[in-house]
Amino acid sequence: AAMRHLPYFCRGEVVKGFGRGSKELGIPTANFSEQVVESFPSDIPTGIYYGWASVGNGDVHKMVLSIGWNPFYKNIKKSVETHIIHTFKEDFYGEILSIVITGYIRPEKNFDSLDALISAIQEDIEEAKRQLDLPEHLKLKEDNFFHLPEGKIVNNR
Ligand code: ADP
Ligand code: MG
Repeated sequence: AAMRHLPYFCRGEVVKGFGRGSKELGIPTANFSEQVVESFPSDIPTGIYYGWASVGNGDVHKMVLSIGWNPFYKNIKKSVETHIIHTFKEDFYGEILSIVITGYIRPEKNFDSLDALISAIQEDIEEAKRQLDLPEHLKLKEDNFFHLPEGKIVNNR
């Protein structure tokens, strides 16, 4: 069901999240604004995805992405959060994040402990890295989408 929507192209502003402490876990997630989230297909399944991401006009990096239920809105709205597999020197709130989602890993899960959550995410990251090296995913890194004029907002062109 997730595959039907992929690859999915999306570009929008990075906003402040709801402080779940992702950064403290060593896994910061760049949150898209509510407006961008609303532009996603309403039937796209929640869960963990992977793909490519670029901040501003910067380099294209591997990423893992979660589409989940947003606790801030009592779980009636979705949130879309991108963890870019790259170490940035600074935060990039307010900047334009461009992503292409190319694959799906697993549904959302609840974890019994923080350790279990962190190791699941680390496995997701390893899975994303492996998958993104395969030709069908790798080719999207070079997509023209990442070289569109800055400021142009595109959702799934
Ligand atoms: P918030 O609740 O505001 O989303 P997080 O703890 O999830 O806070 O941190 C997310 C922020 O960290 C991003 O908005 C971005 O500015 C910054 N950041 C730094 N490195 C990364 C990265 N590798 N991937 C995603 N965001 C990053
Ligand atoms: Mg976040």
